[in-house]
Amino acid sequence: MTNPITRILVVDDANIERMKIKGYMGKRGFEIIEASNGAEGVDQYITQRPDLILMDVNMPVMNGYDAIRQIRQHESKMMTPILILTADDDLDAIDQAFEAGANDFFPKPINYPLLHQRIRYALRDAARERELMRITGLQETARILAGLAFWEVDMKTQQMRWSDDASNLLHWIEKLPSSFESGMQIIHPDDRQRMIHIFEDSAKTGAKFELEVRSPAQNQDHILKIVGQLNKAQRLFVGAIQDVTSQRRLEQQVNYLAFHDAITGLPNRKLFIRDLEECLEFASVKNTQVVVGVLELIRFQQLSETYGVEVTDQLLIKLVSQLRTYQPSNTMIARLDGGVFVWRIQLDGKIDQEDISSQIDRWLEHLNRPWMLDGRETYLTFTAGISIGPIQSGIASELLSMAHRTQRLQKPTANVTLGFYTDSKDEGLQNRLKMESDLRVAVAEKQFYLVYQPQIDLSSDRVVGVEALLRWRHPQGESVAPFRFIPILEEMGLISELGDWIIEEACRQQVQWTAKGYPLRMGVNLSPIQFDQANLPDKIKTIVAKTMIEPHQLELEITESLAMHNPEETIETLRQLRELGFKIAIDDFGIGFSSLEYLLRFPLDTLKIDRAFVKDITQGRSDRAIVRALTSLCQSLGLTTIAEGVETQRQRDYIDALGATEIQGYLISPPLEPEALINLIKNYDCNLAAIKPH
Ligand code: C2E
Ligand code: MG
Ligand code: MG
Repeated sequence: MTNPITRILVVDDANIERMKIKGYMGKRGFEIIEASNGAEGVDQYITQRPDLILMDVNMPVMNGYDAIRQIRQHESKMMTPILILTADDDLDAIDQAFEAGANDFFPKPINYPLLHQRIRYALRDAARERELMRITGLQETARILAGLAFWEVDMKTQQMRWSDDASNLLHWIEKLPSSFESGMQIIHPDDRQRMIHIFEDSAKTGAKFELEVRSPAQNQDHILKIVGQLNKAQRLFVGAIQDVTSQRRLEQQVNYLAFHDAITGLPNRKLFIRDLEECLEFASVKNTQVVVGVLELIRFQQLSETYGVEVTDQLLIKLVSQLRTYQPSNTMIARLDGGVFVWRIQLDGKIDQEDISSQIDRWLEHLNRPWMLDGRETYLTFTAGISIGPIQSGIASELLSMAHRTQRLQKPTANVTLGFYTDSKDEGLQNRLKMESDLRVAVAEKQFYLVYQPQIDLSSDRVVGVEALLRWRHPQGESVAPFRFIPILEEMGLISELGDWIIEEACRQQVQWTAKGYPLRMGVNLSPIQFDQANLPDKIKTIVAKTMIEPHQLELEITESLAMHNPEETIETLRQLRELGFKIAIDDFGIGFSSLEYLLRFPLDTLKIDRAFVKDITQGRSDRAIVRALTSLCQSLGLTTIAEGVETQRQRDYIDALGATEIQGYLISPPLEPEALINLIKNYDCNLAAIKPH
């Protein structure tokens, strides 16, 4: 079908000829543009851009050949069909016309129907040509965008050829290889064998192949994707090559980010679980074991609130490096979140719990060192839990949650407190849930009371103080030890409320005893949560005002590990409390690995030496040396030292000799209810009076 706007430029000096063509073709829907010589024809071409040109040969000013040459110069590709009209049918003229750039010729005198037909064919061919060029143009653009180059290898000669721009694409290769063998030189030596193998295989089967290989470059290897297939008829291997380095790196990075923790660079939970699944599979086939552990840095959240994320991020990085330096072989460590890390150790065979335990103890022992937080040395506390697969479970996530539950159940008593998963702990979990609900009731119904343990001054042998200790009157009758329920109250957020009551009750008791003639110093334990309350000094002040206790009669006990968690803030809070007139004691001293530097900086009155040192004082020389060092330090600082847990007379004698000022322990009395305590004091004073009269 003829397009009505198809325009034909007729270049002929014979007016009559142009008229005839215009008449005939005009009727058939063409638009005719005229030019009476070659030069005019070139102008018309430039301004009108016709779809086809009919060109006479012999014309004044400029002949047809020259006109065609000029027109072709204005085109980027030979796009416009040009038919030369020639009276001479000698071959020479026709050759000249083609040479100048004509597409076809048409003899004069003109046979119009035939011309019409020829024009239609020429237009159709031109349209096809244009479409083909459009498609190849698109492909070319796509090829350049995709960074594709083509190659071929002649199977007979092994010659290799490349598309023109291949050297741009493979810019790091000085000279493109010209044979298959030299082509191997651009491939990483470790990838060559694979490449040869795939080529040979593809040559045999005729199947298309696709592979990625490395190509060494100066800074980093490039990754090349090579596809190809044998063209059997031509005995040619043909294919394309693409540099996919940046794509692969990006993919790697995306994968990396999806599976790693951005701060420490450790694998994250997803990757850990995936790896653990593989380890467990391997372990069940090979009949070996996998140890799964969870390690938590206690009070991480508080550390990061106090010091800021940057400082704690740095801490995490140091921690990881410490863990990694000493990790057992075949260990993978990952970070879950906050201060929680997990690890798995793939064992070669089976070892018993003792061995695993001591191996992990030795590893985690390296966490027992001072850590720099904001330029200050601080000790950290960790709890850890362990489970073993596939004995306890063959399912990765279950094994991990067993270790995690075990870890959460650990009460931090040392630098790192480690626990093993046992089934009974699951039972423990049930018990714990029950305890939580019982405790809610207990707080609401005030099922708590205080008992008091006397403290004896060694030089006067008199009861000079007491420590208030919390007791829970469980409705079912049995008594529950404080270390079992206090941490739970802390976690449940109930300790502050109860803590206020404890202080008030203890103060009230002290005032009552003072009124009766027993002005005993009252020691009260503060839980870490209570101690962290911003308004603690104000709260205590209010209680003091309410009960009218003399502030110096109230001694607040904080544990050593609590004091060391955030020493700078501790110092500030202690200073405020001391300004209000209260006494400060550091409880359980010696097990928390404090730095003595801090001990000297804390505003303190009393140091309570932990029972652990008293226990073996009659046997262990090192314990004696430590106690001696502490007591003499305290003497020079003017501090009171109370030795806790003195159970025997021999222990008392040693402690006395080592220079402690006071003792507390079952030797004197277990914690007692108020009345019983006063009776004890009365009896004690009587006995005393009997032995050494005043
Ligand atoms: P603590 O402050 O070090 O208290 C001393 C613990 O040692 C008490 O255990 C006491 O009964 C026990 N004890 C005293 N003399 C001896 C002895 O000669 N031998 C042995 N084996 N043990 C002795 P209790 O009452 O079970 O308290 C345990 C811990 O619970 C306390 O350790 C303290 O950290 C915490 N706690 C107790 N009452 C309170 C309280 O009112 N508030 C807070 N926040 N914590 C408390
Ligand atoms: Mg205490
Ligand atoms: Mg204590």
